[in-house]
Amino acid sequence: MERAAELSKTAALVALEDSFGAHNYHPLDVVIERAEGVWVWDVDGSKYLDCLAAYSAVNQGHCHPAIVQALVDQSRRVALTSRAFRNDQLGPFYQELTQLTGYERVLPMNTGAEAVETAIKAARKWAYKVKGVPDGEAEIIVFSDNFHGRTTTIVGFSTDDQYKDGFGPFTPGFRIVPYGDAAAAEQAVTPTTAAILVEPIQGEAGIVIPPDGFLRRLRQICDAENCLLLVDEIQSGLGRTGKMWAYEHEEIRPDLVIMGKALSGGLYPVSAIVADDQVMGLFQPGDHGSTYGGNPVAAAVARTALRVLVEERMVENSARLGAYAIERLQAIDSPYVAEVRGRGLWVGIELDRSAGGARRFCEALREMGVLCKETHDHVIRVAPPLVITRDELDWAIERIERALTGP
Ligand SMILES: *Cc1c(COP(=O)(O)O)cnc(C)c1O
Repeated sequence: MERAAELSKTAALVALEDSFGAHNYHPLDVVIERAEGVWVWDVDGSKYLDCLAAYSAVNQGHCHPAIVQALVDQSRRVALTSRAFRNDQLGPFYQELTQLTGYERVLPMNTGAEAVETAIKAARKWAYKVKGVPDGEAEIIVFSDNFHGRTTTIVGFSTDDQYKDGFGPFTPGFRIVPYGDAAAAEQAVTPTTAAILVEPIQGEAGIVIPPDGFLRRLRQICDAENCLLLVDEIQSGLGRTGKMWAYEHEEIRPDLVIMGKALSGGLYPVSAIVADDQVMGLFQPGDHGSTYGGNPVAAAVARTALRVLVEERMVENSARLGAYAIERLQAIDSPYVAEVRGRGLWVGIELDRSAGGARRFCEALREMGVLCKETHDHVIRVAPPLVITRDELDWAIERIERALTGP
């Protein structure tokens, strides 16, 4: 009786979303009301291990107490000043982020897509003011299967038809080459090329890892051709791959790094770009901005999110347990699995086309208490918060194995 009532609570809330919201997502029908660390609870009291971590926004674990405290404390003091005035959190946030990244300056935004837009503006400005590209002719090289967000400019250079369908006309000035193909990128460079924009590993495409040396080659091309290397670390950054930044795996230094998602540990939308003076110094007052960008709550939350990531050694945990998870998942003997690949606690289980798609496995895992979401149709993404323990990981892997080897 009680269970029936609870189940109808889920159904009622799903019905509300479906009745009154735009249907721009196809979520699993689990209605979450509470979360802590790697665990979430739904409205009928079921507990799940979160293996998506809000697309890597909650690397620090759900509702990390120190980040919650920072959010509450700062909200009580002052929440929004606008950038018309200054606030006492922004300077320290800039300083700490530049110390962490080794870049000279920060430009804060809110969402990932806005940070990508900011990077595009920075690269174009640099092309015109420094490189001397004729006005209106700057080009940015991007890659097939990219995901950089959902604005009209960004979806315009997507290769996913659904992302674009019905949303044109699109912004010109982008040239698309195959992901992982540095030679194709090199061939696409012209005197008007401003930048190459790349994900070090493609998350939304299904945890696609490029060939070794790909980023290093892009770095060399940008050096030789005088263009900027822009790296989108919104999903790959902040420990997800077992390093603070995924580009560190290739020991390169991009000209500009784009970050978001875990920059706030899931408590607030905070994004940023970092770069040196030669690029960032080109922004003049009035060139670019955001009402909420760099607000005191965002800055206080991000400062704490960065601090706990380092102090609680979450990046090291991602490296250690990620390697362990990949090994164990690769050992699963399943007729449905085509490939298991990953870096750090960021694993893609690519299913065989005969498996009937990843969705049914995600539904089965949900029944067993593990929340995963299919990426495109054929990849199960395993990306828990980086605070996961070995025992919790074993618990999840047992269930993933059962789902992949069951009927
Ligand atoms: C999520 C994501 C974005 C967009 O971030 P939003 O906050 O959703 O706008 C951009 N690039 C990458 C690589 C992402 O994973």
